[in-house]
Amino acid sequence: MLNRSRRLRTSAAMRNLVAETELRPQHLIQPHFVQPQKGTSEIGSLPGINRAGIKETVKQVEKDLKGGLRSVMLFGVPDADAKSPDASYCCDHEGVIPQAVKALKKAFGADLIVMTDVCLCGYTSHGHCGLVDEEGIIQNDQTLPILAEMALRHAEAGADVVAPSDMMDGRVAAIRALLEQNGYTQTSILSYAIKHAGAYYGPFRDAADSSPKFGDRKTYQMDPRNAREGLRDALLDYEEGADILMVKPALPNLDLIYRLRQATLAPISAYHVSSEFSSVKAADRLGWLDGDQLMFQHLLAIRRAGADMIVSYAGREAVEKGWIS
Ligand SMILES: [Zn+2]
Repeated sequence: MLNRSRRLRTSAAMRNLVAETELRPQHLIQPHFVQPQKGTSEIGSLPGINRAGIKETVKQVEKDLKGGLRSVMLFGVPDADAKSPDASYCCDHEGVIPQAVKALKKAFGADLIVMTDVCLCGYTSHGHCGLVDEEGIIQNDQTLPILAEMALRHAEAGADVVAPSDMMDGRVAAIRALLEQNGYTQTSILSYAIKHAGAYYGPFRDAADSSPKFGDRKTYQMDPRNAREGLRDALLDYEEGADILMVKPALPNLDLIYRLRQATLAPISAYHVSSEFSSVKAADRLGWLDGDQLMFQHLLAIRRAGADMIVSYAGREAVEKGWIS
């Protein structure tokens, strides 16, 4: 036979020689749920992931850095009594995220990339990502200055990257303008450019205590039936000043990661979300499959589709268990 594809699969060394996709610790972004209280508390539906106080977060990041995980995404989990209809705590100079960013940058400086989630849902008493009027309608334009101020607080504290995940129209432009006005010209924006509504975020909402108290998020998050809509929005975010474009969730949207890769020169991030992670963990516990191998293949597929970086709850174990180095 002239063509025998198996020649290039004969040994691990040969397979490594022709491997097309690389997954290294620097491609992964580890999420953290940061609470104002000291100590840690487990999140039942996200095995191995904790809510943690600022000190404990710094300690965990120190360990992760030794394994090569150089980027974190911080989500604030404020006390229930700090939540309000207008999410005012998210703009507090002494809020949990500005404090956590300062502590991390003080400890690790330029060795660590600190990214922060910018969205109101963890801070509003109603659990929506924007302000809500008396009829329960999400108020797009009134939400923008609050998101921009929240992002500015994170930039002032030293965040390298702010990551708006709210899905209001025009938020990247609003954030970029306020950052520029205040001299934060070097702060990057990672926009959740393509974010579908749906069932993939359940364990995250447990972790961040951010479920909407009424209605759903379908008037701001995208319809999972659509692809062109996402590409259009992603390109708009880039025009508004985003530096990195996110696709979320990752595995159900490998087509979109691939198509966005063709459509833009910007770096692409994918979010391997809570349900993607937790469903592997649950099936592994039942003994139905090899969770470690499956999780690793998830991450490889996301990279192969065209993601430069992946936010994943599996980042730490990928390094600790030696799947990647
Ligand atoms: Zn939100």
